[in-house]
Amino acid sequence: MAPIICIVSLSRSRGKTSLIEFLIKRLSAKGFKIASIKHATEPFDTPGKDSWRHLEAGSMELTCITPQELITIRRMKASLDDGVDSLHLDPDLILVEGFKKSDKPKILCAETIEEVEEALKRISKIIAITGKVAEDEEARKTISSIGPGVKVLGFEEILGLIEDLIVTDWLKKIPNLDCGKCRYGSCKALAEAIRRGEARLEDCVSLLEPMARLTLNDEIVPLSRWPQTLLRELILGFTRSLKLGDINLEKVKRIRVEIDLSR
Ligand code: SF4
Repeated sequence: MAPIICIVSLSRSRGKTSLIEFLIKRLSAKGFKIASIKHATEPFDTPGKDSWRHLEAGSMELTCITPQELITIRRMKASLDDGVDSLHLDPDLILVEGFKKSDKPKILCAETIEEVEEALKRISKIIAITGKVAEDEEARKTISSIGPGVKVLGFEEILGLIEDLIVTDWLKKIPNLDCGKCRYGSCKALAEAIRRGEARLEDCVSLLEPMARLTLNDEIVPLSRWPQTLLRELILGFTRSLKLGDINLEKVKRIRVEIDLSR
């Protein structure tokens, strides 16, 4: 799971979209893969359009394909977690516009000190404050005294903060198997190259091509070669014992097992 950051504000027109646009442009230009989720108060589809008519007729899920886009619409009461689960790509960071009541870390866009004071009372997990209020040096000092530890930052500084978050996340995900398969030769060397901005997590060959992968709530559990082999043989042995009908196990390339522990 990539880090998730919500960009929030107490009122409209505080620069949330401008900040997200700035971050996506600059981070994408640096080669980071960014996904975004936006909270909207109005339905996305337009009444009367063909796609709207499909959904009105009772379609469970509608996919529209245009020359440049693939858009999926599901009519459901969705949470931020549902939005995150619906992402099909594997980004380095998920930027969210809105969802100020979520439990995810947040960057607040604000105009005045009073707004910041109110937001600090009402919104949890604010890791930084930006927007017009960050342009005023006096306001920066006042806010630092209201919420010690709260960073008041300009857009460029927010960019640096987010890059650090992505790199810290990558460093945590290096499996420390020291298999020697990547061009850096060791996990420590790859970690150092990532810190210098010269490598990416995907340079870890072992993460890209595991023989078997175990994930708990989407978090990958690092497994060395032996537990990977054990897990693979265990599942293969179990699968071989089943009646598989027309499926020829010799031709199967990938097996996925998911266990729901809440049942
Ligand atoms: S491929 Fe991954 S696990 Fe192997 S040495 Fe490189 S960083 Fe470590």
